Amino acid sequence: MAERKPEGYLNGRPLHPESLMMSYGYRPEWSEGAAKIPIFQTSTFIFKSAEEGKAFFELAYGLRSRRDGEQMGLIYSRLNNPDLEILEDRLTLWDEAEAAAVFASGMAAITTTLLTFLRPGDVLLHSEPVYGGTDFLFKHVLPQFGVRAVGFRAGTPPEQAELLLRRLGLTERLAMIFIETPANPTNDLVDIAACAALANRLSSVRRILVAVDNTFLGPLWQQPLNHGADLVLYSATKYIGGHSDVIAGVCLGSRELLDQVRVLRTIFGTMAGPHTGWLLLRSLETLKLRMTAQMKTARHVAAFLKTHPKVARVRYLGNLTEDDPQYEIFQRQCSAPGSMISFEVVGGEAEAFRLLNALQLIHLAVSLGGTESLAEHPATMTHADVDPEERIELGITPAMIRLSIGVEHPEDVIADLTQALEAV
Ligand SMILES: *Cc1c(COP(=O)(O)O)cnc(C)c1O
Repeated sequence: MAERKPEGYLNGRPLHPESLMMSYGYRPEWSEGAAKIPIFQTSTFIFKSAEEGKAFFELAYGLRSRRDGEQMGLIYSRLNNPDLEILEDRLTLWDEAEAAAVFASGMAAITTTLLTFLRPGDVLLHSEPVYGGTDFLFKHVLPQFGVRAVGFRAGTPPEQAELLLRRLGLTERLAMIFIETPANPTNDLVDIAACAALANRLSSVRRILVAVDNTFLGPLWQQPLNHGADLVLYSATKYIGGHSDVIAGVCLGSRELLDQVRVLRTIFGTMAGPHTGWLLLRSLETLKLRMTAQMKTARHVAAFLKTHPKVARVRYLGNLTEDDPQYEIFQRQCSAPGSMISFEVVGGEAEAFRLLNALQLIHLAVSLGGTESLAEHPATMTHADVDPEERIELGITPAMIRLSIGVEHPEDVIADLTQALEAV
């Protein structure tokens, strides 16, 4: 799609992302007039001439800079493929990013991005808790490459993390701040702008990057780049895919940073395939509808849980009150509370398990963000690997259940929880 020039304006006015998800970056004349983008199920692309092939490779390997108006051509599906390129263009619209890269999984996006920017001797400062796979990468893999990960509790101000770094004498070696906000499964928020300010303060010759895993609220309800982050990461397996039928990941940011990420994606081979790209293009058409319906249903469910006598505590962003320091961060950083709810039943693991085993409509499964509601037990499932003492410190108690709310009718979700709570 060398000649592609994405449009996003009507009479000079920018169109909203949801209006562009059916058309942006694609011209039907490329594909026999097909209204929908075909799956470009091909490993390689035919050059018009040897000169063209030479020019594409010069750009792919960065042997020279682009001539005026020159676009990178299609070479080979580990480097580029129309299903991925169009998807990447559409993804940039939600986060107002210059560039995007799609990966075979959220973990492929995170590992490829981190290995692009971290070097032996570097320090990575990160919020805690983070996704299990990310946690394993930080604690067990990065140290083997000479990178030291230092965690700070989500919900504590980043200034405290700075004090910790100073105490350890590591401020000079800081290369990246990685945050996951809201934190899983506690919904604790990390202040993105405060992390960006900290990165600016500690940057010297080399700029310290701020990367945000935006899987839980993005791309609809939180745009980290607008709060000073440099990179946004997603498990597209969750809300972006939205149907629990595809594994994929995304990294977004400036063209300059993404050009570097894309080099390692090509070398590691961590890109997604064309069919995954096509599935995600289909998902994007209903992204706003799905996330809005899920968010609205979650409001009803959270309100129901809050007053239930067998529920001890509900962690849901929509329940934050003005006296909570997290409230101000929420107001500034998020445009809606999303659809992840964690709650504690009165009792412990036995009571939580009784509830989970009694559910009929809500499935008992990990993962989140899909059209169907899911429930799981963080302490023994997604966060089983976290040190037991640390788990309690983070607020992941044996009585906690995590809900991902789908697009079902709120009355039915509440009816299922009502009958399951009777079993407790
Ligand atoms: C699921 C998830 C990941 C990992 O994504 P995969 O697509 O499963 O590789 C990373 N971060 C968060 C917050 C997640 O929920």
